[in-house]
Amino acid sequence: MILTADGTFTVFHPLYGEPYHSVTAGALTECLEKFLYPSGILQRAKEKREIRILDIGFGLGYNVAVAIKHLRDENRHLQIYVLSFEKELMENPPLLPEPYGYYQRLLWENLPAFEKEGISFKLLLGDARKKITEVSSFEAHVVFHDAFSPLKNPELWTLQFLLQVKRLMDIEGVWISYTSSLAVRKSLWLLGFNLQTTASVGRRRGGTKAGLSIPTLLSPQEMHKLLHSPFSVPLEDHTLEDDPSLILTRYNLRVEHLKA
Ligand code: SAM
Repeated sequence: MILTADGTFTVFHPLYGEPYHSVTAGALTECLEKFLYPSGILQRAKEKREIRILDIGFGLGYNVAVAIKHLRDENRHLQIYVLSFEKELMENPPLLPEPYGYYQRLLWENLPAFEKEGISFKLLLGDARKKITEVSSFEAHVVFHDAFSPLKNPELWTLQFLLQVKRLMDIEGVWISYTSSLAVRKSLWLLGFNLQTTASVGRRRGGTKAGLSIPTLLSPQEMHKLLHSPFSVPLEDHTLEDDPSLILTRYNLRVEHLKA
């Protein structure tokens, strides 16, 4: 368990060698400022009857709990649908402070699925690469893509996995993540998404917002890197079953080839 900059707790994952949330930004601050606010979903909730959230990497359930709390504040009649993916559920996750703790407990006490209080929640447990192919449609208004970092958890950042995510998005849906990885941005770009950089929080670089119905707003330098950097090649996993180390090796070989 780690105390983060805003006083909320997160957990360190020994295998990935990373915390579940940004320690320098703060766990709750990350949920709000890297995911929820820049997604624009709170504004959309005012005029919608329902909002559908696709949550890649449920983890401690922070992103989902925080989103539900604020969506409910915006529109108390809103029907909220959440589809989460997670490989392993931890025992005794730390709880966010109230009022978020209420929604986090609601999620954890009713896993893997429930329908109450205008919330329809379902968690698919297992490798998201396999589970996502079992979902026929969802039409997500927002995707919180929150796996561990692309070089530690590459299987959830590949061109092929992101294609599956795109398949489950509404035409006006937005995809949001803390990463500005060129490999990830290149895949999103190749899939036809427009890209924006979100504000940096607790670190130098901002995150990424992608959508089919938003304009691309990248600086000339960011666009140049996206189009010309040798690091701007997708992570690839054609079978959605490759070993993460193979995905990385393939990527590194391609980068070295382009650098030569
Ligand atoms: N969004 C979470 C929250 O707010 O608490 C934090 C997510 S944490 C950064 C990344 C999560 O992705 C971990 O819980 C990890 O188990 C999950 N994950 C990693 N690889 C996965 C895979 N192949 N399939 C499903 N989940 C995976």
